[in-house]
Amino acid sequence: KHAAKIRLDDVKGEQSREKDKADRATSEQVLDQRTRMILLQMINRGFVSEVHGAISTGKEANVYGAVAYPDLDGPPVQRAIKVYKTAILSFKDRERYITGEHRFKSGAEKGNSRKMVKLWAEKEFRNLRRIHAAGIKCPEPIQLKLHVLVMELLGDRKGYAYPRLRDAAISSEDAEEVWRSLYIQLLGIMRRMYQVCKLVHADLSEYNILYNDRQLYIIDVSQSVEHDHPRSLEFLRMDIKNTGDFFRREGVDTLSDRAVFDFVTA
Ligand code: ADP
Ligand code: MN
Repeated sequence: KHAAKIRLDDVKGEQSREKDKADRATSEQVLDQRTRMILLQMINRGFVSEVHGAISTGKEANVYGAVAYPDLDGPPVQRAIKVYKTAILSFKDRERYITGEHRFKSGAEKGNSRKMVKLWAEKEFRNLRRIHAAGIKCPEPIQLKLHVLVMELLGDRKGYAYPRLRDAAISSEDAEEVWRSLYIQLLGIMRRMYQVCKLVHADLSEYNILYNDRQLYIIDVSQSVEHDHPRSLEFLRMDIKNTGDFFRREGVDTLSDRAVFDFVTA
């Protein structure tokens, strides 16, 4: 630990303010030395200038808030950094997404968890690029290095992330109408993702959708698959059922899952 610190000091030199911020995130016990070096490299190259505390600590990844100054004299920009964990166990049940995914040599990387997390981060980065390019609201991907992905923070200017749809406080007088319009918005997103991006999210639920100001934002697309993946339609049915169930619980008079499937794929 001490050795790591000395090396960091050597690398960082006078930029100690940033270093302290990076150290604070490190103190949450999740950033190994390799990850710290990647973050410092990103700081040195200006993709990130401050790394803040964790927005989310999950089984497979942690997400941190960060700030960057893309223009020297411009305003700060809020970013999110997703750091994939190199834990073999959490990637075991992910195999089914990779197998049959022609963008990745299936099997070759099995058993090498460092390569596996790099693959997942890469997959998320590419999927985000495709989804963002299609005009679907999602974090804009900024930078990728091994298992560390920098993206736009979906949140306010102070760095507070938008809530998940699960936690969205929609309590206005027209809540019923808002829920209905969100449901229709999501149908459009699923269809566009399928038809334009040629992707199925494959883990779509109220937990992987953020909400702000009557807008839905799609996140967490590392496991999303190409529409020609052998199990893509199975995953799509699951996405439709999970989100349909959620909106039904919120009182929306939804279409049948079957009708949604036809709408998305037709
Ligand atoms: P996982 O579910 O695998 O841990 P997610 O990509 O779903 O990873 O991210 C975990 C949580 O971090 C999300 O539920 C969301 O609250 C937050 N989050 C992720 N990406 C962003 C982002 N770009 N902007 C704001 N919050 C984010
Ligand atoms: Mn998630």
